[in-house]
Amino acid sequence: MPESSDFLETYLREIGVQTPISLVVSGEEMSGSEQLALADQAETAGAAFPHAEPIPAAMPAAPVSSSGSESAPFKTLHELSREASDCSLCGLADTRSNVVFGVGNPQADLVFIGEAPGRDEDIRGEPFVGRAGQLLDRMLHAIDLDRKSVYIMNTIKCRPPNNRDPKPDEVQACNLWFEQQLNLLQPKMICLLGRVAAQTVLETDEPLGALRGRWHDYRGIPVWVTYHPAYLLRSPQQKRKSWQDLVTLLNRLN
Ligand code: SF4
Repeated sequence: MPESSDFLETYLREIGVQTPISLVVSGEEMSGSEQLALADQAETAGAAFPHAEPIPAAMPAAPVSSSGSESAPFKTLHELSREASDCSLCGLADTRSNVVFGVGNPQADLVFIGEAPGRDEDIRGEPFVGRAGQLLDRMLHAIDLDRKSVYIMNTIKCRPPNNRDPKPDEVQACNLWFEQQLNLLQPKMICLLGRVAAQTVLETDEPLGALRGRWHDYRGIPVWVTYHPAYLLRSPQQKRKSWQDLVTLLNRLN
């Protein structure tokens, strides 16, 4: 672990976890009781993701490849992002400031998906900024990842007014971009953040509690469900479960 090594160990000590997560997950998969004990240590310390260092700048979306077969009608992630930037396929185009496409590593193994841009994201044109985004960055740090090693996006690209849930017709319209984006990313694993993203991607009405704790499938890609960082800010008592989710996710990723 390069630069983040000292931070990670310091951070884990601060939250009461004695064993760096990278060491835990590199060995035998933890039993449920071991995971719980790890989560207990963090919970006892009072919060799952406190005292984080400043967030590194997110990496802008970049082309997946520009040197593929000449005969293949190959579209890059960057080209897709440019196409989406003036989309008006649904009514959200009338109220948005920016289309929020996605950030991170176009070749990432792990993709995080939230529901929709909020106010800060709409202003900056970048997903998961503001307080919830900062918490997501600290969560990534806690499992030795950052925005340069994963990809972050939403199910729809424009902010619904007053942060309401996206409507079915908006989700359906934006699926044009969503599907192409995931096709280009080809991640090994997807983590859905929050109820709305989980229900949208998995096409289910099941509550978040029923979707957490078990693996799902999206077109052959393993899918894990956990809490949205904004929810964790409102319900810090759930941070313990969120920590367990991250440990399980990283175990399988490794
Ligand atoms: S939400 Fe999606 S479909 Fe609707 S205008 Fe924005 S980019 Fe287009």
